[in-house]
Amino acid sequence: MSARTAEPMRLGADEQGRPPLPWLAEALAGARALQRSHALLLHGPAGGGHLQLAGLLAQAWLCEDPAHAPCGRCGSCHLVRARSHPDLLVVVPQAVRVQLGWQGEEEGATKPEAKPSRDIRVEQVRQAIDWTHQTSGRGRGKALVLHPADAMNTASANALLKTLEEPPAGLRLLLTSADPERLLPTVRSRCQKLRLALPAADQAAAWLREQGLAEPEPLLALASGSPLEALGWAEEGLDAAWLADFPIRVAAGDATPLAGRAIPRVVDLLLKLVHDLMARAAGGAPRFFTASRWPAPADMASLVAWQKALLRTARHDEHPWNAALLIESLVTQATAAWAPASGSPAKASVHSAR
Ligand SMILES: [Zn+2]
Repeated sequence: MSARTAEPMRLGADEQGRPPLPWLAEALAGARALQRSHALLLHGPAGGGHLQLAGLLAQAWLCEDPAHAPCGRCGSCHLVRARSHPDLLVVVPQAVRVQLGWQGEEEGATKPEAKPSRDIRVEQVRQAIDWTHQTSGRGRGKALVLHPADAMNTASANALLKTLEEPPAGLRLLLTSADPERLLPTVRSRCQKLRLALPAADQAAAWLREQGLAEPEPLLALASGSPLEALGWAEEGLDAAWLADFPIRVAAGDATPLAGRAIPRVVDLLLKLVHDLMARAAGGAPRFFTASRWPAPADMASLVAWQKALLRTARHDEHPWNAALLIESLVTQATAAWAPASGSPAKASVHSAR
């Protein structure tokens, strides 16, 4: 199903000192303009590259060529890129480690978990604090990244507070969050804030073309302008043709475009579809999909009921006992709510396309 194979995420600038995502250059300059605060909170819309920016900033702090930091060439910059710098610790939930392709590489012989945790657990924070008290390996200080910081549960956040308040000399902390309101106010208030905006649409599309996407605009629309999320969808096999076809298939009760996909992704796609149908029913324009050839939307009441049912599924059915059956029933639910008349032009066009 996958159109591309995701590689483990790389940290830091390349050998020429170029950032891993082109739109981070400006944010890096913005961070430099801030005072050398010991704790920085990188926030802004999801999918902008918070972790990449954190890696870049950490690399700049640890770089052995301060005039060009991050130079990309010194020993320290190489170690950051290889994620083996003794003075950089990146703490992520186990589930994020899996997403990044980092599982099995670090934290020694941790056994794979049946259900990877979405939390930064208190043991991880305690281990990180122990690490902050060890002597710097290369003598330029240390950088601790927590990504995303809002994945810290209350115990984890409380464990971090003293270190945020009085960090050991030479330690700098980088917290990321697409949703800073989810952080404890006591954590938020101890950090200087730096907002990372999404790149402009043309820059995002140009970058996605460099990554091999032929027609990135529909994927960018699906991803609300986030190039990283658009790339994630592409890696799951979505492209412009899939996106144009998907709503018509759903209206016709065809679950094959969703077969084999993770339930949270299926629910996300259907929630975006119901959003667009509601927009159309209210006389507005769709946001996530292109609505040429769609059957007319159902009445608002049945769309609202469908949306509520999807939200209930999102809360309860992340790991259903029978995902294939659930996907079938979600599509049946969608078709019933949308309810195109039998033999409608859309249904006929799906059939004739086969
Ligand atoms: Zn360097």
